[in-house]
Amino acid sequence: MRWPFPIRHPRIKQLLQRSRQELLWLSYQLLPPHCPLCSKPLQAKPDGSIATLCNTCKAQCQSHAPSRCPRCDEPYQAASIAAHQCSQCLKTPPPFEWIKTAGIYTEVMAQAMNQFKYHGHPTLAKPLAQCILDQLSSDITAYQPDLIIPVPLHRNRLRERGYNQSLLLARLVGKALDIDVLAQAMIRTRPTSPQSLLNASKRHKNLHGAFKINHTLPPQRVILVDDIVTTTSTARVCSELLSHHGHTVAVIALGRASLK
Ligand SMILES: [Zn+2]
Ligand SMILES: [Zn+2]
Repeated sequence: MRWPFPIRHPRIKQLLQRSRQELLWLSYQLLPPHCPLCSKPLQAKPDGSIATLCNTCKAQCQSHAPSRCPRCDEPYQAASIAAHQCSQCLKTPPPFEWIKTAGIYTEVMAQAMNQFKYHGHPTLAKPLAQCILDQLSSDITAYQPDLIIPVPLHRNRLRERGYNQSLLLARLVGKALDIDVLAQAMIRTRPTSPQSLLNASKRHKNLHGAFKINHTLPPQRVILVDDIVTTTSTARVCSELLSHHGHTVAVIALGRASLK
């Protein structure tokens, strides 16, 4: 909680801090917070803040395969001793620097995304963005981005859903790491079929020419935010467009699925 005015007097500061802790304690007694994914009660941390997910759900949203492609985060079945790029990245080098995700697309993450995207639960953005931040803050900071851009929705889908889930995640990540977010940097020029309904070969075709740059900017180091990465088609199409406009792109997402 931030006070709406600067407080400099140490005694007043201490009193307000104590009242805040007492208020939080009282609110936990009256309305105990619950995990938004499984409804288990959430524990207060020693500093008075509460976890956004229970430990079980958090672990499910932040687990990774034993090894993965350093370029596109493709999960490998077996642990590999030396880091090596996947066959797709070697065959067709991607137009992005890297993709990093909070974790593999588990059952819990699938349920969370279902609620977040299709059942009108935008409040799930906060715990899901926290999973991204827990796992990727240092990678994002090390990349030294100028700007965060979300994968856009077509206006019809936006009207239907009421929000762009990638923009909600982008805003929370941008706020936490103090990076500007440009919501309308790109637009989706035509409605496209949901990628999840298509096989790998149709996914790239489905998105061909579906995006347009909406803001001409000098070359930037961009973080593109997507929700789930599966074949990397969306990341590739958007990154290609951004890189044609002089930008360097890295991609972050909540989950990494695989068709294999
Ligand atoms: Zn839970
Ligand atoms: Zn790869």
